[in-house]
Amino acid sequence: MNDNNKGLSTRCIHAGEITDAHGSPHTPIYTSTTFKFGSTADLLDVVDGRKPGSLYTRYGLNPTIFSLEEKLAALEGAEAAWAFSSGMAAEAALFFAHGRKGIVCIGDAYGGTLEFLASQLPELGIPTYFLLGSELDGLKTYLETGASLVFFETPTNPTLEVLDIRKISDTAHEYGALVAVDNTFASPANQNPLALGADFVVHSATKYLGGHSDLTAGALMGSKHLLAAVWNWRKNLGTMIAPETASLLARSLRTLVVRVARQNATAQIVAEVMARHPRVARVFYPGLPDFPGHAVAKSQMQGFGGMLTLEVKGGYEDAVRMVDKLTLFAIAPSLGGVESLVTMPVTTTHHGLAPDERARRGISDTMVRLSIGLEDAADLIADLEQALG
Ligand SMILES: *Cc1c(COP(=O)(O)O)cnc(C)c1O
Repeated sequence: MNDNNKGLSTRCIHAGEITDAHGSPHTPIYTSTTFKFGSTADLLDVVDGRKPGSLYTRYGLNPTIFSLEEKLAALEGAEAAWAFSSGMAAEAALFFAHGRKGIVCIGDAYGGTLEFLASQLPELGIPTYFLLGSELDGLKTYLETGASLVFFETPTNPTLEVLDIRKISDTAHEYGALVAVDNTFASPANQNPLALGADFVVHSATKYLGGHSDLTAGALMGSKHLLAAVWNWRKNLGTMIAPETASLLARSLRTLVVRVARQNATAQIVAEVMARHPRVARVFYPGLPDFPGHAVAKSQMQGFGGMLTLEVKGGYEDAVRMVDKLTLFAIAPSLGGVESLVTMPVTTTHHGLAPDERARRGISDTMVRLSIGLEDAADLIADLEQALG
């Protein structure tokens, strides 16, 4: 079913669904690893790409995976989407396919992404470059060296810095480079980078898309032409999503819009209450009118997301004490689930960075990152207040 002209909630529910002979309203799980053909000619039509069809599950040629990918593409308004076994798998296939001449990473990024870009890809001779969001003037210098891919998150982790997708895309395209946005923090319910000029969207579907902290998966969206070059990388790295996980992820996507809308609303209330709290030095949330990225966020996002960061007054020990006193927020290094989570960047996502590098990136020892779940806002606020008190 092609639902690309329908609203996002409708697409979340109906895009890609295939019904079976028994009238199942949703795509069944095809656990088959291989699929039968009536003749050698029929098999060759699929092998040679003349006809679409199921063939072998590691290739992604499986009805449950096709169905999920059609839904994923529809959510970002993309021509196509590939599903992966994890967010890092999606990034790896993208970097190998389109980043071999050089990758520029702007702003803060997920720890695994930074490690892959800073330590591992250079070992293979792939040049990688890093710029803070405040150093955008330097982008042209790297693009002049022939870097082929610009990669960034927005809002970033953990300072929720907002990067201007349209502006960066325009600059990259002037030099013939492609642009990939990691849209994990925002989710497609709040931001659609392809509509703002990016060439690729990457998701850790482990987070908001999965939404229940019970599956690991990734997604890459873009044009058919650009995704075609990623195909063999996913196939031969063997980083295909399992059909069971694909079905679970499709189940989650049907409620994406209602989940994220509620998370946006609760995060806004929590951010406003925390901004007035005497024990809180600062709140980082794109939905606060005095937040530095607010204007750009307002122009490129439909909602401000469920992630926010606080800076607790005092020192590291005070922040740890507050985190350890929380009872509803669980101490865990992930995000985007129905349950609220808390993590200190200095102990998890940015633990591996040298203290002066953390300081350069504006990441302090008193930062506490919250992933707002679907609990009642009043209960979450009460928990934060007792922990701060
Ligand atoms: C978690 C995360 C990743 C990595 O995703 P996995 O599914 O754990 O491989 C990439 N980017 C961002 C922003 C993330 O939060």
